[in-house]
Amino acid sequence: MNHDRSHALFERARTLLPGGVNSPVRAFKSVGGEPFFVDRADGPWLYDVDGNRYIDYVGSWGPMIAGHNHPRVREAVQEAIGQGLSFGAPCAAEVTMAETITRLVPSCEMVRMVNSGTEATLSAIRLARGATGRMKIVKFEGCYHGHGDSFLVKAGSGALTLGVPTSPGVPKALADLTITLPYNDFDAASALFDEVGGEIAGLIIEPVVGNANCLPPREGYLQHLRALCTRHGALLIFDEVMTGFRVALGGAQARYGVIPDLTTFGKIIGGGMPVGAYGGRRALMERIAPAGPIYQAGTLSGNPVAMAAGLAMLDLVSAPGFHDRLEAATHALCDGLEAAAQDAGVAFTTTRVGAMFGLFFTDAPQVDTYAQAVACDTAAFNRFFHAMLARGVYLAPSAFEAGFMSGAHDGAVIDATLAAAREAFVAVAAG
Ligand code: PMP
Repeated sequence: MNHDRSHALFERARTLLPGGVNSPVRAFKSVGGEPFFVDRADGPWLYDVDGNRYIDYVGSWGPMIAGHNHPRVREAVQEAIGQGLSFGAPCAAEVTMAETITRLVPSCEMVRMVNSGTEATLSAIRLARGATGRMKIVKFEGCYHGHGDSFLVKAGSGALTLGVPTSPGVPKALADLTITLPYNDFDAASALFDEVGGEIAGLIIEPVVGNANCLPPREGYLQHLRALCTRHGALLIFDEVMTGFRVALGGAQARYGVIPDLTTFGKIIGGGMPVGAYGGRRALMERIAPAGPIYQAGTLSGNPVAMAAGLAMLDLVSAPGFHDRLEAATHALCDGLEAAAQDAGVAFTTTRVGAMFGLFFTDAPQVDTYAQAVACDTAAFNRFFHAMLARGVYLAPSAFEAGFMSGAHDGAVIDATLAAAREAFVAVAAG
């Protein structure tokens, strides 16, 4: 594969953008090499500026669940653009969006639209603190909730990939208010709440972790956290920025039958535009300005073009059978990968929850803790990543990110992926 144009762009980018990128994991720092620059995207494919084509399992890190450049989303955006780009005053699409989210995720009786997942989680913990009058926040090792100060403590995603899970620049006084727990450890959560439960404003969790590879919750774990929060008067916050509308139409809370007090969203609800949201019970959400005193605002929040894209995407994922098809495709992919690894003699396993999956280079039969995820063979992952890329398959460029299935990944695309994987595992085995 020729990458001359990407290389030239990266050289220019490096002199002007920190690390040559606008978001860290894109830079290929942990897998090595240089990123390709995208020219266009369509269905399951990314096309780079040198004319190479890749089957894409990143999907813009989640939003592209219907495939890239879906005509229904594109047409909705084109129509919205004809009416103007931003009003800074209420528009009808915001109301339709609120109606849609509250219908699909009934624990959200009211919502507030924002512009990113980061904004959604920042706002949710401000609300939790404002509503409870308590200041401590509980999060989980390896979970990523955006780059807000309170969350960059033992964080996942790029922070973990780059070895800076606790970022410099976060005031110690603030970091001290963030308590971290090991995910899927029942006793650690019980012990913490026994000790300081009365000081905890909220517990925030990725109900399926997608930022430390992909870690599903153990049976009853989310219910356990729900019970602890209820008993101690802390708010349970599900960060469904990744899982929302992906692991089920109603998100992880629908899949596992656990009702959080607050939920944060991003990615899919923007259909590829910069959108986030947070929602919850009416009495809580009415504490937000201007209904209540807890302040949160946004110049571009509820942007009409972004709402149009998000509404079209939510309509696509609401089609009957959509999630079942993606789940079946995810199983076909992961089963095929496991078989190919076994044939090549590579220690490897997968996790799958709906339309997300994890790839683990380990001989452990099952992986569902952060400690296990970080103990995997990242060097083997990196070799696999590059062997797949060279064969036209783009996986997340880090061993600590979930993979994403889309509605555009049909049987032929999965077969092509598996053909590449059979060769790639042989290359991994060769070392
Ligand atoms: N929460 C989760 C679970 C995420 O995966 C992410 C981003 N990957 C965020 C929050 C932050 O969202 P954004 O990048 O839109 O700020």
